[in-house]
Amino acid sequence: MENWPELEAKYYMQVVARTPVTLVRGRGARVWDDQGRAYLDFVGGWAVDSLGHSPKVVADAVAKQARTLIQTSNQFYTVPQIQLARLLVENSCCDRVFIGNSGLEANEAAVKLARRYGALNLGGAYEVITALGSFHGRSLAMTAASGQASFHQPYEPVPSGFVNVKYDDIEAIKAATTDKTCAVMLEPVQGESGVNVPADDYLKKVRAWCDEKGILLILDEIQTGIGRLGALFGYQVYGAEPDIMTLAKGLGSGVPIGAVLAREKAAVFTLGDHGATFAGNPLTCAAAVAVMDYILANDLPGHVAEVGKYLMPALQGLKAKYPFITDVRGRGLLAAVEFAGDIGQQVLLACLERGLLINRVKPNAIRLMPPLIIGRDEVDRAMGVLDGVFSGITG
Ligand code: PLP
Repeated sequence: MENWPELEAKYYMQVVARTPVTLVRGRGARVWDDQGRAYLDFVGGWAVDSLGHSPKVVADAVAKQARTLIQTSNQFYTVPQIQLARLLVENSCCDRVFIGNSGLEANEAAVKLARRYGALNLGGAYEVITALGSFHGRSLAMTAASGQASFHQPYEPVPSGFVNVKYDDIEAIKAATTDKTCAVMLEPVQGESGVNVPADDYLKKVRAWCDEKGILLILDEIQTGIGRLGALFGYQVYGAEPDIMTLAKGLGSGVPIGAVLAREKAAVFTLGDHGATFAGNPLTCAAAVAVMDYILANDLPGHVAEVGKYLMPALQGLKAKYPFITDVRGRGLLAAVEFAGDIGQQVLLACLERGLLINRVKPNAIRLMPPLIIGRDEVDRAMGVLDGVFSGITG
């Protein structure tokens, strides 16, 4: 049998610290490695595999579309693209959609929209306020937007026009707003920097401030959207509708796709302003239509809310039991457990050993973002593994 990690070390750019397991197959919330060993997956493709692994509805939709029409170009109308746009608009506060291939592409489009809006309506305002600790993607502009120096420092100079301020602090946004500001861009819950959940009224206050100043509110729902927080979109949890919203991850349940949505007033692109060869490709859109149909028909957000209400107290229970757990936080099926020391990797490897996949989101924290279809059984199994691992650490 091939030694895949050895071949990877030889041929692949070394940009990510891999967990030492080669996954070859998945079904539901389970994956199997190349030795045939099964794992319960609480990483979920980094909050992507919303319907679980290789869901039949998506596999069927992709297979059918692949046999019908894989790609034309945006010179022509294609059916799945328009079907998906309708589904997204009819189920959100937004009026128009542009579909791309990933999260960062969606965010790039969102910032382009905001800058056009600023040029047209705000006397040339172009600055976007983002939050410290945010993550918006890995393009040059999105590394600048992301409020974490490690993402942009190696590539400086990065595009200007972003101001990073403290998260969950309305006063910081107010203080940073000038006549150059065209938008505020936030994650409803910060995912990549450790599942930072803001105060319940934070987004409402930001919404009110944006209205007062006539600037746009962009919500990056790439990680929080499509049911993850227990509502179809995170903004519904917090009661603050954005002018522009970006989606990716869970939208295709593993098929790469992203989308920027905007209310009519912010949908200011005109002919030639934006585009991409694969944007709104029939194959990926057919997958996302299948995902959206499934999610809506089965009220998956409601299911997530319920299972999330079971998961969070279970994690709190572990916190009460193990004093080295300093914090447990999350919403829906996005959660983090923080430790007093940098034992995240140790916990990850011990979980792997016991057949549970988790994510080490910070040296001292792990993140759980399982497929949205998991039930209480899977939560129980994961909690059992964590309990066993933690008891080993105290001992
Ligand atoms: N925005 C958020 C909130 C994310 O969590 C991510 C990815 O983790 C991105 C943007 C970037 O998305 P992508 O990796 O698809 O470019």
